[in-house]
Amino acid sequence: MPNYTFKNGAIKDMPIGKIVCLARTYKKHAQEMQSEIPKDPIVFLKPATSVIFNKDSIIIPSESSYLHHEVEFGIVIGKKCSRMAKKFVLDYVSGYLVGLDITARDIQAEAKKNGWPWTISKGFDTFCPISEVISKDEITDPNNVDFSLKVNDEIKQKSNTKMLVFTIEKLTEFISHIMTLEKGDLILTGTPEGVGPIKEGDILKAELKGYCNLQVNVIKRGK
Ligand code: MG
Repeated sequence: MPNYTFKNGAIKDMPIGKIVCLARTYKKHAQEMQSEIPKDPIVFLKPATSVIFNKDSIIIPSESSYLHHEVEFGIVIGKKCSRMAKKFVLDYVSGYLVGLDITARDIQAEAKKNGWPWTISKGFDTFCPISEVISKDEITDPNNVDFSLKVNDEIKQKSNTKMLVFTIEKLTEFISHIMTLEKGDLILTGTPEGVGPIKEGDILKAELKGYCNLQVNVIKRGK
């Protein structure tokens, strides 16, 4: 797998590992999807092969005609950890990024209706654009970071990690009790309200305010 890019070249050789995603972690997003906030976070995986980087293109696959953007705050794991206590989890974090959990909403709706996994709707190539990584020491409070997404220069999603139903520490602790987290793994912490469709030709600009930007465009897979 390709390596992360760290801002200022802080760390060079860290290949992207598994991508653990969370759903319904923001109240208003759960409401817009007519869903309840669960007692424990909902967890699913995206393959590392879905990652693309700044200035790359999201490709609309021929299997879907309705993609949605979901901007998310990401946690990059720097050291192997398992069953961590909440107060120590940040010691195992290397940094943070802004990412997009691109979703084939038509395929996901079908899966939800039938009780099937979300893997197909979340797992196509190019469905996980990520920014460079900001080292942990630069972001002193990960539970208070503004982030946003513009589509064609219009603000579509804007929130702050303090709106998360669970703290960054709690989410990381929770996942580490299910699966061992390894160096290079990425946690995408879920999306705030404002998700919506993207189409061929759109330009998406995400940012962690004051830290980093991510820009990708949308193209259609050639026949
Ligand atoms: Mg998501």
